[in-house]
Amino acid sequence: MKFRYFITLTLQTLIAFSALGGSAFALICLERQNTALATPKQSRWDETAPLVIVDAGHGGHDGGAVANGIIEKNLALDLARRLQRELESAGLRVRMTRSGDTFLSLEERAALAGTHQAAAFVSVHLNTDGEGSSAEGIETYFAEAQPLSARQFTQTSSGTKTVTSADFASTVQRMTCTTTKAQNRGTKARSYAVVAQAPCPAVLVECGFITSATESARIKRDAYRDQIAAGIARGVVLFLETQPKLVAEVTR
Ligand SMILES: [Zn+2]
Repeated sequence: MKFRYFITLTLQTLIAFSALGGSAFALICLERQNTALATPKQSRWDETAPLVIVDAGHGGHDGGAVANGIIEKNLALDLARRLQRELESAGLRVRMTRSGDTFLSLEERAALAGTHQAAAFVSVHLNTDGEGSSAEGIETYFAEAQPLSARQFTQTSSGTKTVTSADFASTVQRMTCTTTKAQNRGTKARSYAVVAQAPCPAVLVECGFITSATESARIKRDAYRDQIAAGIARGVVLFLETQPKLVAEVTR
């Protein structure tokens, strides 16, 4: 009797364990499947992909703005690095103006776009308002007066279309605000040297107000900075994808 009970118990244990093993196996298979699904989609660009200059604002002795425990140069570099990863995983080539805590003049930053024949230039900054201000949101700046080379002429079925930094700014602004759900403060024409002197479509993104208690708290979260970077990257990719000239070059 005792022996039979033991056998039954052993059998039950065995069945329970095989069921568990089966579930674990199923889970592993599912995990494999998910990983396969999560692999990046085929990029439309290869090694001749357009190059994007990513510029982390300030650096070195120029710390930029300071508020709510944030030093602009540090967060700008953090955001720039996240943006670099996003753009590279989308298949674009990236050149950073600075990858450490170093100082470069605005002219040197803009000139890198010419040196590397960049297709686009993105400068990353953080905004400020008066102390205790509740102003928040994202805004994107572009320069109306840029060298002629910054205007990209693309051939469309209805003729030649000129693509400018204003188009680039509105795409980046729209995608960044959609992704982050931040307040959309729009695009603004302002001749900041770093964007005015770049010989390619160029924007300066003010990624949020560090003077705002609520927005600075959001910006301190890694997940939110990932969203900002992903949003800007989506804007850059969308802008570059809609330029027939650049697409034609890489699909030749
Ligand atoms: Zn700044």
